Amino acid sequence: MSDPSLQAPNPLDALLDAQLESQVRNAANLDRCRGELDQSSQALAVQKSCFDAVIDHIKVGMYLFDRDGRLAVSNERLRILLGFEQSDALVGLTLPQFCNAILDNVGALAAGHTRIEAFAALAGSDDKAALNLVFQSGQVLQVAHSPIAAGGFVQTMEDVTERRKAEARASHLASHDVLTDLPNRRLLKQHIDVALNDSLADCAVLCVALDRFKSVNDTLGHAGGDVLLVEVAKRLRRCVHADDIVGRLGGDQFVIVNTGDASQEALQRLAQSVVTEIARPFDILGQSVIVGATLGVAVAPRDGDSPDRLIKSADMALFEAKREGRGCCRFFDPSLETKARERQTLENDLRIAVSAGQFELHYQPYYAARQRRLVGFEALLRWNHPTRGRVSPLDFIPVAEELGLITQLGDWILQEACSTAAAWPNEVLISVNVSARQFVNNDLVASVARALEYSGLAPARLEIEITESALMENVGEIESVLDRLRRQGVGLAMDDFGTGYSSLAYLRRFNFSKVKIDRSFISGLASENQAIAIVRAIIALCKNLNIVVTAEGVETELQADILRLENCDYLQGFLLGRPTPKTELAAVFTVFGSPFGSPFGTVLSQRGDLKGQ
Ligand code: C2E
Ligand code: CA
Ligand code: CA
Repeated sequence: MSDPSLQAPNPLDALLDAQLESQVRNAANLDRCRGELDQSSQALAVQKSCFDAVIDHIKVGMYLFDRDGRLAVSNERLRILLGFEQSDALVGLTLPQFCNAILDNVGALAAGHTRIEAFAALAGSDDKAALNLVFQSGQVLQVAHSPIAAGGFVQTMEDVTERRKAEARASHLASHDVLTDLPNRRLLKQHIDVALNDSLADCAVLCVALDRFKSVNDTLGHAGGDVLLVEVAKRLRRCVHADDIVGRLGGDQFVIVNTGDASQEALQRLAQSVVTEIARPFDILGQSVIVGATLGVAVAPRDGDSPDRLIKSADMALFEAKREGRGCCRFFDPSLETKARERQTLENDLRIAVSAGQFELHYQPYYAARQRRLVGFEALLRWNHPTRGRVSPLDFIPVAEELGLITQLGDWILQEACSTAAAWPNEVLISVNVSARQFVNNDLVASVARALEYSGLAPARLEIEITESALMENVGEIESVLDRLRRQGVGLAMDDFGTGYSSLAYLRRFNFSKVKIDRSFISGLASENQAIAIVRAIIALCKNLNIVVTAEGVETELQADILRLENCDYLQGFLLGRPTPKTELAAVFTVFGSPFGSPFGTVLSQRGDLKGQ
């Protein structure tokens, strides 16, 4: 037998071996490749789960359409936004299918906003772009589009409903009055601007202020005042046409922007309807409250061609209407501007006057009518201005009240009057006028106490005069102050009686020690039966209530005689003595050498009928 190893190699075997070897190598390669493939698919899976985690973590919906126009990737937030059960339900959708899915799942789009076609068109945009989808339910989805260079696009979808609502709330708040929800000054100005630019519309601005609002605030508190303002807003809205705007500037001031008929007659009618409507009693916190309305009107373009100008003109007219007596309406006219300028200078001068000591008190005597005896003096304020000359208190006291200067001035008046009176004989009284404003914050009680202490004047020699109309302005607050003054021992006189509401109830309620019958009735005494009847009635009433009566403005002997016959207690007027500086009072005290001499002496002794009195 021959040794097979020594035999020549069979070429077929060699080939087979080589193939086997190559197959083994291939198999090993294949294994390695499979291993590598496994590894990379594992890595891919890791990467995918990371990618999923990342895009699911994003707080906005996100999706990608590939270059074939099919949705390839989307996140969890998108599924929730569009209300899908399965996240892969979206994958593979074409754009029209995706649009339908949105409408089916979220609901129909609101009319007048972006249409679904516009949303579809967004996908074709080569630039970044965005739009809002507003649904009938009120939901708002904000879509932001970003094209991909290699084809396809990515979009995000965010629910901005709450943000939009918050923005809308903020912008509403910025343009509306919180209390009444009426447009505020800013929005009113926008409305006026629109009306001014509309060549077909007329535009008039009516400023409306409430009368006696402060008194409501004082008696019912701010809660009551707020309820009243809300009710007034409702009534004002009922007065105007659907196209007109009612707004609130603040405090008790409202504005009507009228875009209808701007003729004087039509505006007058509108103003009258506001006055009538607001004058009806309000039921506020279970109480019947009566206020009033005063209006100022400005018409464009005559009285102003900008919102600011028109409001200012209407406001000037309102200011004038208030001065003329409230509860009425005043149209703007250019003379009001001059008045406003003059007032501005008056204000400046008045501020200076307080610190420069340009004020002085004059004293007007009053006498017992029958006994013809000097009873006391009324202190009357005088302003000696270096260039204006002597300014009437009627002109500057209202301004001092508005500027808040009256408190400081009132303090000075009380001190000066009490100090002057302290030097007079003990029986002589001093009457001091006070404004309603001085009653605020109980300042008056402290001010009176200081003046009495400083001067050493007995409280019983001081009498405070308050006008009936001032009393009405602020009944609640004034009542407690008057009460405290009375307890201090100070006398209280109701001034200008008969000019205001002449509320007999107030006479009793406030326990006045004196009533001063207004000059207007005294001047009519000799000629008007009605004036005599009124004076007689007031005197009779006061006698019943044990209240002393003074007649002011007695200018003739006839008036004095009638008043004496009618049993009036005291007389005051030019007939008996004019307001006089304190340095010249000695003459009043020493008429005919008597410390309580009376000018009656002069008048009546000449007539020879003084004997026996
Ligand atoms: P009033 O308190 O009614 O004062 C009487 C006014 O009538 C005074 O005017 C006085 O000068 C004037 N008068 C007096 N007798 C006669 C008369 O026989 N005929 C006429 N035609 N007038 C007479 P006056 O001094 O101009 O004061 C005007 C008003 O200004 C006062 O009216 C009072 O309301 C206010 N007032 C004056 N002084 C003060 C003050 O010190 N404080 C405050 N708060 N108001 C004052
Ligand atoms: Ca007076
Ligand atoms: Ca008076």
